Amino acid sequence: MNIYGLTFSQLEKYLLQTGEKPSKAPFIYKGLYQQQVDSLLELPAIRQSLKEKLHAVFTMEQPRLLAQTESADTVKFLFALQDNSLIEAVLMRQNYGNSLCISSQVGCNMACAFCQSGRFKKVRSLQPEELVTQVLFIQKHLQLKISNIVLMGIGEPFDNYDNVMRFLEIVQHPHGLALGPRHITVSTCGLVPQILQYAAHPAHGLLAISLHAPDDETRSRLMTINRRYPVAQLMDAARTCIRQTGKKVMLEYVMLQGINDHPWQAQLLADLIGTDDFHVNLIPYNETQNLGFTQSSRERILAFYDILKKNKITVTMRREFGSSVKAACGQLRADYEQSSKPENR
Ligand code: SAH
Repeated sequence: MNIYGLTFSQLEKYLLQTGEKPSKAPFIYKGLYQQQVDSLLELPAIRQSLKEKLHAVFTMEQPRLLAQTESADTVKFLFALQDNSLIEAVLMRQNYGNSLCISSQVGCNMACAFCQSGRFKKVRSLQPEELVTQVLFIQKHLQLKISNIVLMGIGEPFDNYDNVMRFLEIVQHPHGLALGPRHITVSTCGLVPQILQYAAHPAHGLLAISLHAPDDETRSRLMTINRRYPVAQLMDAARTCIRQTGKKVMLEYVMLQGINDHPWQAQLLADLIGTDDFHVNLIPYNETQNLGFTQSSRERILAFYDILKKNKITVTMRREFGSSVKAACGQLRADYEQSSKPENR
């Protein structure tokens, strides 16, 4: 069993059940997450026999780095897991700290029409330790502290709800990475039951919803999940989340030329939000090959932005991070698999 998959209370329970003092748990967690030891035999402040016992029982496997692409403020990583599944993570250096975007599944079953990830069917969900070790590996590899985590890489986090919540519990623990709930964002395509569960969960962080259209006709065309949970139901769940957590919900909106960037859609979006505590993030579409969508022009994005502003909606435009390092979902993996096909070698 991988030790990075244990929540603090699971670690305490393990110690208790094997005749050890649970009061050792803080030292073990600090060694793992703050000192980031390479071996359990190196844990500081733990007696030799306990170190050896932990070493015999637990593994510390981390993902294997296959490729790394860098630009001024972005580093993209392609990892292989134990079973050789490929996942991606992207580090963004921002003025408020280092933000890491991680994958939650191998592939994705949500099949959004504009997204490259949806082309790789879900193989499996990631285990808590596979989420945790993406963060730890990159921190150590680049010798930096990650201050924000976003689950916006490959996969649908709420299709892997239990493991994602365990991950959130682990990275928030004060003896571990000690990230605050406002430093972690889970992004969902709109799984309503899990949004409500998340809002009520003690380890919740911030919530982002990939809205991408305010009307059911357009949204169903872009995102099959909308046929199950249409816009009105989704917005109700989001409002419940705002009320219950007391935190803003972010609405992500990828700007697709001629599809979801009409002025009437901006107005409808503003009406949908009303005075509730949402934050709209307009995202320039990162053009992926052969999916048939193009990025909205700058004029259309600005016109859309203006309408939201006039309606007093909190709105930002995401800087186009990472397009030069193929940071759009699934792009690095798609390229890697293309170039490692026998006919392309
Ligand atoms: N499944 C989750 C998280 C993964 S996708 C979700 O749907 O939110 C992270 C975000 O990137 C989503 O908002 C997704 O719609 C968006 N996205 C996917 N492909 C993109 C592209 N080519 N350009 C810009 N954003 C994209």
